[in-house]
Amino acid sequence: MEINKSLKNDTKIAYISMEIGLESNIPTYSGGLGVLAGDTVRSAADLEIPMVCVCLCYSSGYFYQLFNEKGEQKEKEIQWSFFYEFDKVEQPITIKLEDQEVLVSAWLYKVIGQSGHIIPVFLLTTEVEGNEPWKQKLTGSLYDSTSRWNRIVQEMILGIGGVKLLNSLGYENIRVYHINEGHGAFATLELYETLNNQLEKVKERCAFTTHTPVPAGHDRFNHSLIKKVFQDRFPPELLKLGTENGELNMTVLAMNCSQYVNAVSVKHEKTTREMFPNYDIDAITNGIHLPFWVSRPIRKIFDRKWPNWKSHPEVLSNAIEIDDLELFDAHLENKFNLISYQKGHSWNLLDEELITIGFARRFATYKRAILIFHDLDRLGKICQGEVQFIFAGKAHPQDQAGKEYIKKIYEAGRYLYDNYGVKVVLMENYNIDLAHMLVSGVDVWLNYPERYREASGTSGMKASLNGVLNFSVLDGWWIEGYKMKPEAGWPIGKFPDEYKEGEDINSWEKDSQYIYETLQNEIIPTYMNHDEWLFKCKNAIALAAYFNTHRMVSEYAEFAYSLIKQKPWKYTGA
Ligand SMILES: *Cc1c(COP(=O)(O)O)cnc(C)c1O
Repeated sequence: MEINKSLKNDTKIAYISMEIGLESNIPTYSGGLGVLAGDTVRSAADLEIPMVCVCLCYSSGYFYQLFNEKGEQKEKEIQWSFFYEFDKVEQPITIKLEDQEVLVSAWLYKVIGQSGHIIPVFLLTTEVEGNEPWKQKLTGSLYDSTSRWNRIVQEMILGIGGVKLLNSLGYENIRVYHINEGHGAFATLELYETLNNQLEKVKERCAFTTHTPVPAGHDRFNHSLIKKVFQDRFPPELLKLGTENGELNMTVLAMNCSQYVNAVSVKHEKTTREMFPNYDIDAITNGIHLPFWVSRPIRKIFDRKWPNWKSHPEVLSNAIEIDDLELFDAHLENKFNLISYQKGHSWNLLDEELITIGFARRFATYKRAILIFHDLDRLGKICQGEVQFIFAGKAHPQDQAGKEYIKKIYEAGRYLYDNYGVKVVLMENYNIDLAHMLVSGVDVWLNYPERYREASGTSGMKASLNGVLNFSVLDGWWIEGYKMKPEAGWPIGKFPDEYKEGEDINSWEKDSQYIYETLQNEIIPTYMNHDEWLFKCKNAIALAAYFNTHRMVSEYAEFAYSLIKQKPWKYTGA
């Protein structure tokens, strides 16, 4: 374990997250939250933020997804062994679970920034010699929602185990524990104990980011489960602070124990304040790590034009200066790349001549994957010979309705192809690698979740960076993005404040009509006009000057970590 002592002494920030997307094949993420955590740490490393990160190490990860010929999702368990990238922590710590003791150890993965700055990421595991088999399984899989018991135990390992492990490793100067989403809120319990039950001291040390815009999304546990798992060890003061409507709410616990709380977009700040009116909540809009998400052909353009763009992403606001032909060629290379990958992975081959619309996200029903198929004949007539679709995404294994959506995409695709020759392909196993290809290889990025359930969304930012146009409901980040650069894509529907009192904000009928009209009257005609299309693509790229994690992490450094005062900042961005 060679993290040297001076790095440990300098480390001021501990970032605690249930998921982290380090690499495509390290299955410690399921979706946006994890990918954001990965991008956060990548930017923090580039900006030389003195940070350490803790997450869990899921030995069987999230699942590998397959479809059968009927469009049914099959889940395959993965056992991964990428341990050559990791060092093992030698000395496990112990946490108390019911009347048992559980050993917790960790694998260390290092994220290395552009100038060599290291951010250690400790992935906690109970697969430790000395733990009985049932204990070894505790950190087995991500979001194992088969029982609340398993969930609370995993969160206990993350929060309590995380703080304990950092203490045992000699991280003595942590000033801010950044709790990324409620899952990590039990960290406050361990801090409370080490800080002699002084709540004010705990509060000084914690910052909290919420990512969940709907009440049902917040983690809650009933008191009898708490009693069973923690026995008498849960500090009554904290239990009281975290309880809402008779249950422990992890978001409430985290908010009440943090000196700084933020939401992840301007709109999300509003919805969070409505849910929790008595709290002071800030907004730090999410971003993406640009060097990680830029495709090779687009990167070449940036490298040539703005050699310092990686450390100064604000230069991308000049994207309008990019040469049309160069951009056209770069995009075509990305499109070929996607299509040649797709060739090996589905029955129907896409056509590089056609407008390619991409949709990829978790198939939770509120994301309304099948909205565009509301009127199949109308869609078929509009798209015939002009437009094709590519879909990807996983449904949570327990989400039957989400799985039905996947089948419906299959069926709609058959119908559209048989009747109109319109192709709809569905790709298996959406992950970071596939996301790279999709967000750069399609022409239009589609997104239409039910309104105000998108905290931020980041896949649209990845598309934008690569010159792909967004076609999305005005929610999350796109409200801000579309206001900054309306040329960067198209809205679906109106701005939030344009809906009238009592109006159905999520009408499938109205939204699908809006989509068909925009396709027919704007997207298809614009595509026919090269200059106009490329002008829009360049405006899309310009958005990356703002929607990136260098800007975002700099804001955390200033507002959540108060680091700016301690140390002059490297990043001198916009
Ligand atoms: C970026 C990304 C996400 C999150 O994107 P959303 O816009 O929130 O859907 C999810 N999964 C993967 C693999 C990603 O790369």
